[in-house]
Amino acid sequence: MAETDRMEKLVSLAKRRGFVFQSSEIYGGLGSVWDYGPLGVELKRNVKDRWWKAMVHARDDIEGLDAGILMSPRVWEASGHVAGFTDPLVDCKHCKQRFRADDARIKGTPGQPDAQCPACGTRGTLTAPRLFNLMFKTFMGPVEEDAAVVYLRPETAQGIYVNYLNVLQGSRQKVPFGIAQIGKAFRNEITPGNFIFRTREFEQMEMQFFVRPGEDEKWFEYWREQRMAWQTALVRDAKKLRWHQHGPGELAHYAKAAYDIEYEFPFGWNEFEGIHNRTDFDLSRHQQASGKKLEYFDQERNERYVPYVIETSLGADRLALVTLCDAYDEDTVEGESRVVLRFRPEIAPIKAAVLPLVKKDGMPEIAKRIYDDLRGRFTAFYDDGGSIGRRYRRQDEAGTPFAITVDGQTGQDGTVTVRHRDTLVQDRVAAASLVTWLGERLAA
Ligand code: ATP
Repeated sequence: MAETDRMEKLVSLAKRRGFVFQSSEIYGGLGSVWDYGPLGVELKRNVKDRWWKAMVHARDDIEGLDAGILMSPRVWEASGHVAGFTDPLVDCKHCKQRFRADDARIKGTPGQPDAQCPACGTRGTLTAPRLFNLMFKTFMGPVEEDAAVVYLRPETAQGIYVNYLNVLQGSRQKVPFGIAQIGKAFRNEITPGNFIFRTREFEQMEMQFFVRPGEDEKWFEYWREQRMAWQTALVRDAKKLRWHQHGPGELAHYAKAAYDIEYEFPFGWNEFEGIHNRTDFDLSRHQQASGKKLEYFDQERNERYVPYVIETSLGADRLALVTLCDAYDEDTVEGESRVVLRFRPEIAPIKAAVLPLVKKDGMPEIAKRIYDDLRGRFTAFYDDGGSIGRRYRRQDEAGTPFAITVDGQTGQDGTVTVRHRDTLVQDRVAAASLVTWLGERLAA
């Protein structure tokens, strides 16, 4: 299957089956904002829960936080975002399209006669690169004036920095320790696209780990290893994961070292998680700008310092796209082609479908009872419409790992068949033990 076809098929499946819809579609859509439908919201919650469990619940040295999207504008001045959160852009005076100055498709030097527009192909019409601020600006209170300007946060990290002492004091943690947060971020991206890959409103899962200066490189390596191991365990095809190290020209204004975890999407290799050594840049800047001491007192060593920060920053939407691309498959079953999303059971939106073989002989009643029993514990789906083959196919498309069928034998011996989405193997399982049976197979 050509990779462009694969992406098109995935986007159309996502819409048809209720994973992702275009925002405000009935009004023609809003550029690069997407809404998650019934299956998509479950998928996204599952990947976020998996992250939260690994990063917060399973560890003694990381605390959770949920900071506001709106923050004092002084935060963004101190962090360098007001001045520096920009991508150099070039405009084509002929076709009016805009591109990032680092767009590999641009031939020649923008601003010079030799430069060629990647869209319309005209030469000499590209402007010299200009800076453009990516932060969304709004106003707080009734008056739209400069004094009332606030920004929609472009990253969740700053909410963590300005709360680091609060968390430290409230939790009795000691350096090294981390703070994790999941929340919305907004960037007025110039060239958004590729479905939910680059959007203007998105969710980040960020963890900032505070360490003693001098121990930062050791912790940087530790977190690189941890994060790659987590991602590798999530996907079916780990060959589609790789590292990209930021060269000197690519490093963000705050970073000493940075690596991206990239995935081979149908549209090419691209970043979906970043691991950054942000040094003491952010805390020092906030200390200076706010006039509040943000030093840590290390009792054991009897020393004071501003901690260094190792950040792991993962986009929930990009991760959802990774899981969709990773899961998408087509094969042939009994001479018929099927589309199947081979999600790991832990992240599948629906864990089990309950299907009476036919709509008679008491089968729907038994199936309903089983469904009621399961739905309190797992996301389950009841379906008695259409042929059993069609119903299996629908569940394959939704990525449901187990399909439980109530048939003629169920009334006699209390067993059901459980069909495995990937292998198509059918097990005979006692209906009374289904909760345990599924629980064992769904453990993350
Ligand atoms: P890119 O180079 O793709 O714009 P970035 O280097 O600016 O990304 P970071 O600032 O490191 O990204 O953000 C960390 C993570 O947040 C990214 O790895 C990605 O998963 C997510 N992210 C950033 N921008 C967007 C966006 N516009 N849409 C969706 N997710 C995003």
